[in-house]
This record gives sequence, structure tokens and C-alpha cells, in this order.
Amino acid sequence: PVAHYQDLLDFHGTPRTAADRSFNIFFDMGAWQGYSLPRAGDRGAGFSGPFVHSLGTGQWTGTRFAALALRDEGGKSDIALKEVASHAVPGALERTFSASDLSVRQALFFADSWHALVRVELSAGKTRDIELAIEGRAMPLPGSHLASDGDAVVQGFADSPSTLVTQLHADGLVADHAVVSGNSYRIALDKPLHLEAGQSVTLYVVQTLRYDARAEPPAIDYAHAWDANRTRWAGYLKSVAASHLSGLPNDVAQRVAAKAVVTLIGNWRAARGDVHHDGVIPSYSNPDFNGLWAWDSWKHAAALAWFAPDLAREQIRAMFDYQGADGMVPDCVFIHRADDNWRDSKPPLATWAVMQVYRATGDRAFLAEMYDKLVRYHRWWFADRDHDRNGLAEFGSTDGTRIAAAWESGMDNAVRFDGAKMLKNGEHAWSLDQESVDLNAYLYREATELAQIAGVLGKTQDQQQWQAQGDAMKRAIQSRMYDAKLGWFFDAKLGEPALVRVYGSEGWTPLWAGVATAAQAAAVEKTMMDPRKFATTMPFPTLAADDPRFSPIKGYWRGPVWMDQSLFGVEALRRYGYRTEADAMARRLVLDAKGLAAGQATFRENYDPLTGDGYQSQNFSWSAASYLLLLGHGDNIR
Ligand code: BGC
Repeated sequence: PVAHYQDLLDFHGTPRTAADRSFNIFFDMGAWQGYSLPRAGDRGAGFSGPFVHSLGTGQWTGTRFAALALRDEGGKSDIALKEVASHAVPGALERTFSASDLSVRQALFFADSWHALVRVELSAGKTRDIELAIEGRAMPLPGSHLASDGDAVVQGFADSPSTLVTQLHADGLVADHAVVSGNSYRIALDKPLHLEAGQSVTLYVVQTLRYDARAEPPAIDYAHAWDANRTRWAGYLKSVAASHLSGLPNDVAQRVAAKAVVTLIGNWRAARGDVHHDGVIPSYSNPDFNGLWAWDSWKHAAALAWFAPDLAREQIRAMFDYQGADGMVPDCVFIHRADDNWRDSKPPLATWAVMQVYRATGDRAFLAEMYDKLVRYHRWWFADRDHDRNGLAEFGSTDGTRIAAAWESGMDNAVRFDGAKMLKNGEHAWSLDQESVDLNAYLYREATELAQIAGVLGKTQDQQQWQAQGDAMKRAIQSRMYDAKLGWFFDAKLGEPALVRVYGSEGWTPLWAGVATAAQAAAVEKTMMDPRKFATTMPFPTLAADDPRFSPIKGYWRGPVWMDQSLFGVEALRRYGYRTEADAMARRLVLDAKGLAAGQATFRENYDPLTGDGYQSQNFSWSAASYLLLLGHGDNIR
């Protein structure tokens, strides 16, 4: 039951400024506007908001939406409503109020990516005629203007084609002229609602965010919108209800999984502007993160595949819409394409994500749609990022900068790149002077999965060719990137026998990809399970805990736990048969992240491996995605 999942996250908050991101905001269905529950003790009805995420980096354009003014016909003052409860349930914010002989329920939900609806249900204890108006308040914003347009209120914004339209919808009743005064507005029904004792009536307050004049929102099916919402959410929750991680109490696993679904869906944004398919952004809580990133997208899609496969496919398409003529997929894309970053790409996990969609859905047509795109992206790495043409690739950049090359690894400030230099491969193509072990392990896995896709599509020759390429990479990675004395995989210096001997999370990617020998895996497992190095309270840090450069608190990629890497670590152990160890580490990840399983803590961008404290962005999508896969809502972990 949905009640089981009440208040997984705390959605209470009232914005103090237009940029306030100090509390959680509820979004669904890809909408670019979001809302919160007014702070406890707040006396009015309605909700905080909206927060319009497509305006700049996101701004509260309203402080109050769907407040109610109720009055008995001819009465002198408004009926005083007393708040009874205020909760978030997956897919909706709910508030209930009581007055003498009257109860009021408000549920805010999304009918589609354009329309936020507040379903208002009035139930009368005695026969009465009630005059009803809804009220709202805009955030005082430079350049924002509020105007009435018949029975609607329209808010416009400086330097933006977007408008926000507020309306009142009641079957068989007509809304009166909207009245705007300063930052406030009011829309009343033209005649009183007649309620018999014991009777209920339902009406809707609607807020539509039009991105620009071209975009035409669909019609709302009021009769079915709420039921459709409940059915969709029940479907998501059912998909993730079974726990597959042994030794973890079922209700704990279910709560964490449901919270992960709420987080991913909360970061879903519909195609608008220059983004042509829907996707999931890294985090609405971080103003820098309102776009789509390549390797974030692959990780989101891998988890979405198991409960929202349509969105998983859209997310992958949204990035490939921007695949370059040379095959490159850019780092990140935004609704204003001027913000896109083409200085680098991101680690190649796209084929893995596509295969997750296929495993979850059996959708061959999607494999057929994606195959050539994946092949072109895979080949791009060897065309633009293999300086010495030896079949092992390097991270690099299109502009020759080392910072963009490090971004390409996804691990912006990782210790292993501290001494790296740039090498030119050609016009707009540069490499770091080291072959990274994670990059090549990912490319190996791509080759083996491209072989599988070719097999499914009946392309036998391609299949053999991918297998042969995978075999060649396997020999090269096993011999070139592994230090038998240290029992660990490292990046290899280009053109010299030297390895970059930094113990980092990239060291277990050859196990994750299945490219290590059993003996190599046994040695890596020992180091992973060493509490001084990687088996910390929250396993597995991105840099070994006994490295003098280990900075567990806010070191970004120099120590903290990033959940994608920890997930890959658990999957690495499992792939080579270390099941008990994998389960134990997975349980720690669930139970030792502060507030995650037991409290209302959001999924964080990264965690202190020694204490489980969360850092950086709140509501971070790939952490949520990694937890879903960790709990077994994927097929490669059981
Ligand atoms: C991280 C990248 C990530 C991006 C978006 C960066 O700061 O280092 O790995 O793709 O944020 O989440």
C-alpha cells in the first residue's frame, strides 16, 4: 500500500528567496515545475510553489499555489480550516483540513509534463452552500508580471518565452473573472457550491507551464488523471517491491528502493527546447545539474529499465540525438544548446545501458535502433583516443586541456591523473599520456555486449568481429594493466612499461567487466576486502583509505564513496564468485549511509567512507539508480 511509503523524503518547505534550494521539491512526469508542502504550522491551504526549473538554473516563481478561501453563502468571514495532516506519498503531495461539518482534502499531482493539478475534495457534514475561491501568490521577481486573462491568471518572465497559467476547473461550474492584485491573485466560482449532508464534490486547480509559444500542451482528462497517476505509481512500486539482497530486512529494502524511484522520477525532465527526448537530470537540488550527462544517463537508464523502460529508452535517445558526425557523444546537453559541453565525452557505458533495457524488456527493435549508433561511438574511442594505435584507449579532450580530459573520465580530480600530460592525436583530438584501466575494461565489456547485440540481430559476421576484438583487449588488459606483485589493476603509462600505481576504484572494473583471470580476481578481492584500504564502513572508496592523499570528507573523487563505483565493486565480487563478500558489502552500503534506510535522508552525490555521512548534491540520480541495482532490481547481480 502507498501509505507504507509515506514521507520517504521530507517535502516541507517555504521558499525564502527565488533561488532557495534548501529543501526537497516534488516533480513528476517530466514536468519542469515543482512544488513543496508548506512548512509545518503554516495556516493556509495549498502548496509552496511553483519552482520553475527551466528559468535560468531554476527559480521559485510562486510562493503559494491553490490556497482556498471558503465562505458559507452570505457569510461574513471565511471558514477557518484547521490542518489535519500534510504528507508526501509517492507521486503526490497531500493535505487534509477540517472545519465544523466540513472536511477538505487537497492532492497535488501531475497529469502530464505540462500540468500540475490540485484535486480538491470537499465533504460536507451538513447541507450548505459554499462560495469558493482559490488564491495564489507569486514570488516578487524582477521582470515577472502577473495578469488576468478571463478566468485564468498568466505569469510571464523577463527574457523567457515561458508562461505559467493558473485556472480553476469544476465540472458544470464556471470560474469567474480572475483578479490580480500586486503579487496575489484570486479566481472564484461564479455561484456557490451546493452540498447535501454527507455529499462530496471534487474540483481542480490547474497550473500549466508553457515552455514557449510553439509548445501546445495536451488536453487534460480530468475524469481519469488521478486514477492514471495512482496506477502508474503502483506499477513502479510493484516493480521494485521484491528484495533480492540476502540478509536485508524486506521493509528496509522496499523503502530504499521506493525512495530511489521517487528520486529518479523527481529528476525526470521532458523534452523541451534543444533537448529532444525526455531524460533524468543528475539532481534538481544542484543549480549546475539541470541538463543531461552522458555517463549519468547510461546509469539512470540501466536502473529505469526495470521499472520505467520507456523513460530508459528516451534517456538514451536524448544523448544520442547529439552524437557527432565522428561518433562522439558529448559530456552533457541542455535545453539551451549553447550550454552543451563538447570539450570531452564520458566513460563508455552506453552499450551496457542498452543491454539492460533489452534484458528488462526483450525489446529487439530498440537494439536494432541503437546498434549503429553504439558502434560509431565505440569506434570513436579508437579513432580519437588511442594515441599509439595499440588497441587500448586513453581519456582525452577535444580542446587539448587536461581538465576536460579528466572530466572525460567522469572522475574530475582523481589522484591517478595528477601527473598526466596531454598528447595530440589530431585536429580536436587529444589523449592523456596514460591508458586508463576503467576505460578499457568498459570498452572490453562494450565489445562483448556489441557481440551479443549483433548475435540477437543476426549479424553473425559482426558478432565474430566483436568477439575477436574483445579477445584482443582481454589479453592486452590482463598483461599490460595488472601488477602481479601488488595484485591490482592500474592505469598504464603510454609507451613505457610503467604503471600509475595509485590504488583507486578503477582497479576492480576489470572484474566488473569480466576481463580479469580468476587468479587476478582473487588478488583484487583480497585488497578490496582489506579494511585499511577499501572495506571501510561504507565500502568502497574511490581511493584506498591508506593512501596519504585520501580525503574522505569532501575530496570529491579523491576518497569519498561514489555509488556507481561501489555498485561496480559489489558486482565485480559477485561475478567472480565472492557472493558472501558481495552481499555483506552491499548490506553495509544500504545500512551505513546516514539516514538512508532508517531516516528521510536524500541520496547524496558521494559519501564519507569512514562515517557514511553524505556530501555534495542531494537527490542525486545515479546514487538512486545504483541502489536500485544493488538491491537486485537488475539482472546482473543476483
Ligand atoms: C562528476 C561527473 C558527472 C557530473 C554530472 C561531475 O561533477 O564528476 O562524473 O558526470 O558531475 O553528475
